[in-house]
Amino acid sequence: MSAGAPTRPRIGVLAVQGAVSEHEAALADVGARTSRVRLPADLEGIDGLVIPGGESTTLGLVAGRSGLLEVLRTRIAEGLPVFGTCAGMIVLARQTDRGDQPLIGGMDITVRRNAFGRQLNSFEADVNVPVLGDPPVRGIFIRAPWIEHAGPSVEVLAEYGGHPVAARDATRIVAAFHPELTDDRRLHRLFVDGIRAQAAGASSEHKEDTRVGA
Ligand code: GLN
Repeated sequence: MSAGAPTRPRIGVLAVQGAVSEHEAALADVGARTSRVRLPADLEGIDGLVIPGGESTTLGLVAGRSGLLEVLRTRIAEGLPVFGTCAGMIVLARQTDRGDQPLIGGMDITVRRNAFGRQLNSFEADVNVPVLGDPPVRGIFIRAPWIEHAGPSVEVLAEYGGHPVAARDATRIVAAFHPELTDDRRLHRLFVDGIRAQAAGASSEHKEDTRVGA
């Protein structure tokens, strides 16, 4: 955990493509520090990572070239907390409907890319996210995927049109839409508060360990 955590965790934002500065603004609003991640060394000292939208094939190829993809696979499998939006959700999936594209994986979901089809290439809709309460989140869907299958370690956070469009597991949150393009900070807060809670839990465990050992 970086200095300043747990109250002001440092969140890396993968800066290969997509709405990087919008995610940085949202993270700053919920009290996190941010830094951009382009190379493996940029992962040093971060407490969590945001993977923005964009084009998941490009994202995988560019990150693959610098060796970042491989390091991300390891760090994320080891439990580095991640929040992936749209293409960020796709690259965290175990598998996509299109088969062979480089993925980071780690989350037990399979996704369908561009799932809402031509008619609904891009659209906005209210999405009810029960863990966030009222009002619903304004979902901005841009050539969005949906989750085709979620394994037992995954909790579906929201559905739209009968398909899961947001989910989480122990260390990851994914959304098919783009919360960073709205003023609603609740999903970013859920992510950053989860990291704060984990850090607080870890330090109280540590205190207990010390007492037992004393
Ligand atoms: N359709 C894109 C893909 O499959 C994702 C779109 C987005 O991130 N807005 O990678």
